[in-house]
Amino acid sequence: MTARFAIVGSGPSGMYAVDALLKGVPGSRVDVFDRVPTPFGLIRFGVAPDHYKTRNTARQFARTFELDDVRYLGNVEIGRDLSIIELQDNYDAVVLAIGSYHDRGLGIPGEDLAGVYGACAYVGWYNGHPDYRELDPLLDGAGVAVIGIGNVALDVCRILAKTRDEMRGTDISAHALDAIQAAALEQLYMFGRRGPVEGGFTPKELSEVLELERCAVIVDPGQLPDSVEGDLETRIKGVKEKNLALLRQLAAQDKPDKPIKMTVGFYAAPVEILGDRRVEALRMERTRIVDGRAVGSGEFFEVPCCSVVTAIGYQALPPDGVPMNGSVVANQRGHVADNLYVVGWAKRGPTGTIPTNGPDSRDTVEVLIDNLESTGKPGGGAIDKLLAERGVRVVDYAGYKKISAAEIARAPEGHPQEKFTRIDEMLALLDGA
Ligand code: NAP
Repeated sequence: MTARFAIVGSGPSGMYAVDALLKGVPGSRVDVFDRVPTPFGLIRFGVAPDHYKTRNTARQFARTFELDDVRYLGNVEIGRDLSIIELQDNYDAVVLAIGSYHDRGLGIPGEDLAGVYGACAYVGWYNGHPDYRELDPLLDGAGVAVIGIGNVALDVCRILAKTRDEMRGTDISAHALDAIQAAALEQLYMFGRRGPVEGGFTPKELSEVLELERCAVIVDPGQLPDSVEGDLETRIKGVKEKNLALLRQLAAQDKPDKPIKMTVGFYAAPVEILGDRRVEALRMERTRIVDGRAVGSGEFFEVPCCSVVTAIGYQALPPDGVPMNGSVVANQRGHVADNLYVVGWAKRGPTGTIPTNGPDSRDTVEVLIDNLESTGKPGGGAIDKLLAERGVRVVDYAGYKKISAAEIARAPEGHPQEKFTRIDEMLALLDGA
């Protein structure tokens, strides 16, 4: 039996699903949709620009797009240009690989002030996502506070802390690099409501802030426990011990007179963002840990800052009609309903690295194949007709390759590529303008 599949989203989880479907149901045809003209989702827009080598993961997925049975339909938004129902009616199965494209809120007063950004938007801004090209975050003061102590928070702090020279070889978007380098930052804060052992960061990422050219990292040794306690899996305990050793190293470092300080503050939860129309300060409450949870101590302090970035996790934002369960799409082993499935962060929440999505997508595809019945649905031809009737400008994989070649050709000296950040610029390039 062969079948026709639609994948919504061309990030890692979607591309792992394509590979699993082609292996599991040989001879099938797969159409991969993405909202923006360029494929690969988180690899292009989520991975930190100074982790440029990680973007090479896209090479394995690029090979998939070269296969005759796989089509890329970029610049097509499901929920706007086509409905989920239309996909379900025309393909044997539909897999949502839409990630977690919405910042979770803090739920504290002041969150709507100018100068408060979620990490999805902030990372999107410096990574050249068209949605955030005009974010223009406030960087006109001395301090920026980042909430959260996961790898995303570390990414944001590191990108703000690095010099132009340290950002050579990266593909940070020029508009963001210029804005960051023009800012007169003196103080970055990275706040965790729990302690160093509970931090979500990993040793490799933590070690990258050991030697920053213009930024000294401040860690209070009094906040570091002597050892990692608790009933933890051996591998996780090892990671935590390495984190703790690195934090000790940071705490013990001589702090040469560097212009920027990055204070990593544990046991501190945000309670209010202060300011008159725009962020002026962040009010925090000291916490203690009770049964693994952060509990307020009634002791407060404030830090002045011109902006606040929340790196506290994301939630899925599916097209209308897709059922949610908290911050993920409601599913059982990836099955949502009828011939609709989900993979990746939209299925299990925003955790893990790119390769974590391999087994996760294969698991959903296993369920999908078990349920698959030959239905003789028309597949891509009918969808192409609908898109043409609606005047949707589809960017195929050859179109993307043209965009990518132009991005490499226009890279500033010392950088591998300069992404196009506006969709009309990409379409104009394809039109030969
Ligand atoms: P994360 O590791 O879950 O960190 C989220 C942080 O936000 C935690 O410190 C959490 O504290 C905190 N938080 C949540 N709600 C909060 C609230 N209301 N107030 C204060 N703090 C709050 O997630 P992430 O940093 O967004 O990363 C997502 C995933 O991508 C992770 O698996 C991460 O490792 C991965 N990632 C990997 C890389 C890499 O490999 N280089 C880079 C970036 C991201 P609690 O723990 O107390 O809830």
